[in-house]
Amino acid sequence: MRFHFTPVRTAKIENTSDSSFWKGCGAKGTLLHCWWECKLIQPLWKSVWRFLRKLGIELPQDPAIPLLGIYPRNADSYHKDTCSAMFIAALFVIARTWKQPRCPSTEEWINKLWPIYTMEYYSAEKNNDIMRFAGKWMDLEKIILSEVAQTQKDKYGMYSLIGGY
Ligand SMILES: [Zn+2]
Repeated sequence: MRFHFTPVRTAKIENTSDSSFWKGCGAKGTLLHCWWECKLIQPLWKSVWRFLRKLGIELPQDPAIPLLGIYPRNADSYHKDTCSAMFIAALFVIARTWKQPRCPSTEEWINKLWPIYTMEYYSAEKNNDIMRFAGKWMDLEKIILSEVAQTQKDKYGMYSLIGGY
């Protein structure tokens, strides 16, 4: 399970000098580089922040937020669950495409985010908590469905759960 280690760490463990990042960008594979700084990852984080802005969530583009879950003090705690779902989906697709010399696409990210959204929805429904759930999630659903192509919606069964679109 090498995915748990960054290349720098793996190089130490295996006593080799090759600690460059697997993506082949030539940079040293530090933790921050692998999850955030790499130019083959940055476009995905830019998309995530674009979605956040569309949701009216103003967060600094700080790796501590998605990677460590450290939010600014004044961040609206009400929306943290929506944000962390978006971050978890991003981290998942980053890990899954780690050894590929490309950036994970917005489409792949949404494909991972949608099942998380669906699960959150049904769990809220079960707990009679739809009103609290609806706030930002409803906006997120709207944004996702406006961003993805009809073919992607059909393929992955993305249809509106709460918005009625
Ligand atoms: Zn890189």
